[in-house]
Amino acid sequence: MEQRLDYYTLIGFSPETAAPEDLDSLTLPAQGTALLLDFDGTLVDIAETPSAIKVGARERTLLNDLSKRHDNAVAIVSGRNLHEIDHYLSGFTGTISGGHGAELRHDGEHLPGIECDFEQLEHIKSAVMEFAIIDPRVIAEDKSFGIVLHYRQHPEIECKVRDFLKSLVDDDGDFELQAAKMAFEIKPKSISKAMAIERIMTFEPFRGRTVIYAGDDDTDEVAFRFVNELGGTSIKIGEGPTTARYRTASPATFKTWLRAQSRASGREA
Ligand SMILES: [Mg+2]
Repeated sequence: MEQRLDYYTLIGFSPETAAPEDLDSLTLPAQGTALLLDFDGTLVDIAETPSAIKVGARERTLLNDLSKRHDNAVAIVSGRNLHEIDHYLSGFTGTISGGHGAELRHDGEHLPGIECDFEQLEHIKSAVMEFAIIDPRVIAEDKSFGIVLHYRQHPEIECKVRDFLKSLVDDDGDFELQAAKMAFEIKPKSISKAMAIERIMTFEPFRGRTVIYAGDDDTDEVAFRFVNELGGTSIKIGEGPTTARYRTASPATFKTWLRAQSRASGREA
């Protein structure tokens, strides 16, 4: 891998900076593929606050149609808590990974989560909650295996939020800071969306299929790289530098493309 990157650098071309292709040029076969999807910013538009997102019957119908088309090899891989995804997508009985892989529901069962220093996590959460009370410009999102500070309504305090959270995990063996869209999150080092995908792909009916993963955020980049290494297809929603192979403009254009795939080729594709 190192050797390949050096070569690309030498010739002035790096896969990390190559322009992704337009998603409309990609045909998605139904057979032999597994579809793994981020949630916020991918299936639904990002809202002012995490709880203000709009999820309608159209999204739920789309997911159920996709599940049929891909023989149930469809999963949601989100940074949100699993129970929130379940709430927004009530009726979707497929696989869901929450908390960047910390939580997993498959085949109707909640599988054991990760090992984590919960005492240390509680200390971190208390400090972050206190920060959010003192400075109401931020919104704290309590997660099962981490905590997030959102500053979407006040982008000018990005550095303040980052520096504060960084000070809580500097030299911490178990937890780390992760940047997201207008938010910073503290999460266990041992989890990532790549890890979530790796785990999901060991289950039936995912095993042996080619993985297609779509996401919109910095936190999805590790998943894009992993999927690329697996020989799968990575799709970036929206603008920004990415290692994904394909790009589409928004959740709306992504869903239009998904529906077109179903209509154009059906299950025989
Ligand atoms: Mg997202």
